[in-house]
Amino acid sequence: MTDTTTMQCTALISKMIEWQQDMKASNRTIGFVPTMGFLHEGHVALIQEAKKNNDCVAVSIFVNPTQFGPGEDFEAYPRNLDADVRLAAQAGADIVFCPEVEEMYPTDGGIRIVPGPLADQLCGASRPGHFDGVLKVVLKLVNIVQPTNIYFGMKDAQQLAIIETFFRDYNCPATIVRVPTVRELDGLAKSSRNVNLSDQERNEAPAIYETLQQGQVLVLEGVANDVVKQFVTDELEKKTSGIVDYISILTYPQLEEPTAKSKNLIIACAVQFPKARLIDNIIFEREG
Ligand code: AMP
Repeated sequence: MTDTTTMQCTALISKMIEWQQDMKASNRTIGFVPTMGFLHEGHVALIQEAKKNNDCVAVSIFVNPTQFGPGEDFEAYPRNLDADVRLAAQAGADIVFCPEVEEMYPTDGGIRIVPGPLADQLCGASRPGHFDGVLKVVLKLVNIVQPTNIYFGMKDAQQLAIIETFFRDYNCPATIVRVPTVRELDGLAKSSRNVNLSDQERNEAPAIYETLQQGQVLVLEGVANDVVKQFVTDELEKKTSGIVDYISILTYPQLEEPTAKSKNLIIACAVQFPKARLIDNIIFEREG
């Protein structure tokens, strides 16, 4: 736990760079946890994991406009910087980097990072341009913070697969650490967006993970993927008032259609409620 009075907090890129240069000058390793804030126990798990394996930890809090499409929930995305700073300090962060949009994006030279076919599936199919924006902010943050290790949650499995591929193909020097999904007691994946669910939707939402688990069992029993996907869709439509955006079974992390021989799989879905789009997944192995 870091004292809130000793933990640093800066909205300036120049200060953040100064901090990481000081750490590097004294040969300290830097663990970095990029977030969009409204921190919960999922984020805390990432920060704690970073604290365990690095000399110091930086957490960024930035609701990144470039990864939200028109009509998405950029404005409605929950924010609470004071609470975030307290929680980050309790979890062991040494510095919180919380820039304004103008600090991160003062100019736009028009250069884009295009994630390619990995972004055609799952969330990328219904959120065109989303992963372009994710890669843009991650590259900027990595250049600013220059971490030794960077922490990502497996709840955002497609994001993780795309960032891992990007880092590998472009020789980004930080090591990516995958952190398992942290869940509520009833199985719902913790998410900043959960506060935008009504009471009734919150009661329905655990059906997402429950149904994915049932889908996983069916895949392992050898049931055809199309049958499993229809089953999961029907169950989610029965048990929730949300609209099923997609349910997919793919190889992981390649995100390709599986063959009978594919061993590493993901079953993933997105359910759109009026004010919150929830995603969840299970990554698992089967006998190839
Ligand atoms: P976000 O603030 O939602 O952009 O998430 C920041 C990081 O926290 C990402 O790497 C997410 O995958 C991760 N994260 C979000 N929710 C969870 C969760 N329930 N369990 C583990 N990691 C999570």
